[in-house]
Amino acid sequence: MELPFAESWRIKMVEPIKKSTREEREQWMKEADYNLFQLRSEQVYIDCLTDSGTGAMSDRQWAAVMMGDESYAGSSSFFHLKDTINKITGFEYVIPTHQGRAAENVLFSHLVKAGSVVPGNSHFDTTKGHIESRKATALDCTIDEAKDTQLEIPFKGNVDPKKLEKALAEHHENVPFIIVTITNNTAGGQPVSMQNLREVRAIADKYGKRVVLDSARFAENAYFIKTREEGYADKTIKEIALEMFSLADGMTMSAKKDGIVNMGGFIATRHEDWYEGAKRFCIPFEGYLTYGGMNGRDMEALAVGLDENTEFENLETRIHQVEFLAGLLDEYGIPYQRPVGGHAIFVDADKVLTKVPKEEFPAQTLAIELYLEAGVRGCEIGYILADRDPVTRENRFGGLDLLRLCVARRVYTDNHMRVIAAALKNVFDRRNEITRGVEIVWEAELMRHFTVKLKKLF
Ligand SMILES: *Cc1c(COP(=O)(O)O)cnc(C)c1O
Repeated sequence: MELPFAESWRIKMVEPIKKSTREEREQWMKEADYNLFQLRSEQVYIDCLTDSGTGAMSDRQWAAVMMGDESYAGSSSFFHLKDTINKITGFEYVIPTHQGRAAENVLFSHLVKAGSVVPGNSHFDTTKGHIESRKATALDCTIDEAKDTQLEIPFKGNVDPKKLEKALAEHHENVPFIIVTITNNTAGGQPVSMQNLREVRAIADKYGKRVVLDSARFAENAYFIKTREEGYADKTIKEIALEMFSLADGMTMSAKKDGIVNMGGFIATRHEDWYEGAKRFCIPFEGYLTYGGMNGRDMEALAVGLDENTEFENLETRIHQVEFLAGLLDEYGIPYQRPVGGHAIFVDADKVLTKVPKEEFPAQTLAIELYLEAGVRGCEIGYILADRDPVTRENRFGGLDLLRLCVARRVYTDNHMRVIAAALKNVFDRRNEITRGVEIVWEAELMRHFTVKLKKLF
């Protein structure tokens, strides 16, 4: 018989996790004002809140931690990290930062001005924040197909070349660069094809513009290119990554994702002028150039993490687990954003809790129900996260209302995936009895989802 699939690693160290009772969870949820960000981690059994900084480092990474050189200037750990980044991306200049948004802050401080227009594919929320806080515009040029959650296409994260061309034709004087997010997180961890990166490059060249890759999940993107795009099956992940970056001018990176470290980030570029410009902001915001926002030991661990996570087996194990969870949801008929992306499943709450009015936040209600059911913590990516319209102050109900279940890298086993799926099925089976959701009692003006206080109406 054919041998089943199994993980490309074995486990050397374990961390106990604790179950709780429904009564305990009801009490904790109430104390947290029905906001899952307000729970303590001990109150969570399986944590699917985010895949950011939650991955498990390998024995090689922990060994590298011991080799960290904490010299203020000229740390050998910086040069190890820089060499690894040079090899994987082809970018010569590297600036370490404490996380991805810090890389954005440093690079955008040099490049984005009031009135700038930055076109791209569904800018990540901090990316958008760093553009808009500079009185500039983040122009979303994602393909329309990304909005249809049930449509199965291989590269649903792509930039629409027609929208991009139009954006450049109209605004080219004010465009400092184009930004392509790989994978496209906001559209559900959906990949961008090499072909699409080539099209973006051609349009950028036509208008004399540069391209930045927001690269938090570049390795997962490379995996999808290898497994889905014609002509890449026989290429290694490292060859594909190098080709992706060859089509860009620079990158911002949240190393908390595909770097498999708990904290870290960087900027890399092939252009000396960008490096010189960004340098000026690294020193006051992040720190001296050979550590930025990072410890020597963390730079060592990141260098190893980048090397390991651009190996096929590691990525195959990860994506296999996400697909395994998606397969269980298929079996139970639970609708989610299709095809499943690289790091998370986005359950279409509007299609599950059809009796809960939009005004009572179906995705948040589903997240609460799932937690109460089994102590599984997901995250609402929906109407609460969408904040209010800055002018009318009305809730924004125009987008999708999703429950995101992130899968941490190398942390849980497939048995945990079974628990998540079964808990969700139990909620799904009684979906028609769930007719009421939650009401906002207190909210912040911006980014309200982190601190919002809610009242349960059921
Ligand atoms: C996480 C992330 C960021 C921001 O990085 P942090 O490390 O959280 O500051 C930017 N872009 C994308 C696509 C991300 O996933």
